[in-house]
Amino acid sequence: MVGGGDGPTCARCGSSAGSVADGGESLIQTRYDDGTVGPWVCAGCRRGPPVRNECGALDLTLLQEARARLAAELFSADALSSPLARTLTVCEEAGELARAERLLVDDPGGERLDAADAVGDVVIALAGYCTARGLSLDACVGFAWRRVVARWSEGRRRGTPR
Ligand SMILES: [Zn+2]
Repeated sequence: MVGGGDGPTCARCGSSAGSVADGGESLIQTRYDDGTVGPWVCAGCRRGPPVRNECGALDLTLLQEARARLAAELFSADALSSPLARTLTVCEEAGELARAERLLVDDPGGERLDAADAVGDVVIALAGYCTARGLSLDACVGFAWRRVVARWSEGRRRGTPR
C-alpha cells in the first residue's frame, strides 16, 4: 500500500514504520498463549532505550533512566512510587538468586542461567528502588565501592568479605 495512513503504528512511540504483515519488518505484535495479541510495537521500542555508553559498557545511570521511563509508560504511578514496594522487589529477586545458588550447591554442574537471570534482576530491581527513593544507582554503587576498597585495604583480609 502506498501513501496509506491507516497502517499499524507503534503503541509506544507512534511510529508507523511498516508491519511484518505489510512486508515491513519493524512493527510486530506479540501473540499470547491465550490466543490474544498485544499492541503493535516497533523494533526500537522492543529494544528499549539504550543502556550502554559509547564504549559498549553498561551504564548504570542510563539503565536507571531507561527502567524508569519504561516503567512509567507501562505501570501506574502508585505502583512505582513506593520505596517499600521496590525494596520488597529487590528482596524477591535476591531470594531467586538464593534459590538458584542453592540448586547449584546441590548440583554443581547444573544450569547457571537462573542464577545469571537473578543477578540481572537484582540490579534492575535496585535501579527501581533508587528511582522511587530519589537516589542515583551509579552514585550508590560508586560510593559503596570506594568504602569497600578502603575497608579491605585496611587489612581486614580474613573471614568473609563484606
Ligand atoms: Zn516504537
